[in-house]
Amino acid sequence: MHEWALAEAIARYAESVCSSRRVSKIVVKLGTLQAIDREVLSFALNAILESDGIRGAEIVLEDEEAVFRCRRCGATWRYSDVELDEALREAIHFLPEAVHSFVRCPRCGSRDFEVVKGRGVEVAEVVCGDGSEGGSH
Ligand SMILES: [Zn+2]
Repeated sequence: MHEWALAEAIARYAESVCSSRRVSKIVVKLGTLQAIDREVLSFALNAILESDGIRGAEIVLEDEEAVFRCRRCGATWRYSDVELDEALREAIHFLPEAVHSFVRCPRCGSRDFEVVKGRGVEVAEVVCGDGSEGGSH
């Protein structure tokens, strides 16, 4: 979907942080409800960094668990607390909006809830360095 555009943005950001264009590690947090193909993103990011002359950068993709808050009763709960079969989890991965069809408040049963966390993409950490193995600091 938007993996290549996203990878491009992450690469540009990392390069701007490490002005010398030496990036050794990038940690990206991806919301559970973000319809991003991790493999494609990781591949795209590596390809873009390499085409920019940055080699050997470690790419770490972490999941940020989704958290919901009920608009009716104020209860909050996590995606991992929700009982869903694999097919539904898959559906929600590709169409995050579908979460409103399958998830309801565990306290009052309302489907009127908001997604507090787990929808975004965040660059959690950029480590600058020469990326060469065995380098001493
Ligand atoms: Zn509720």
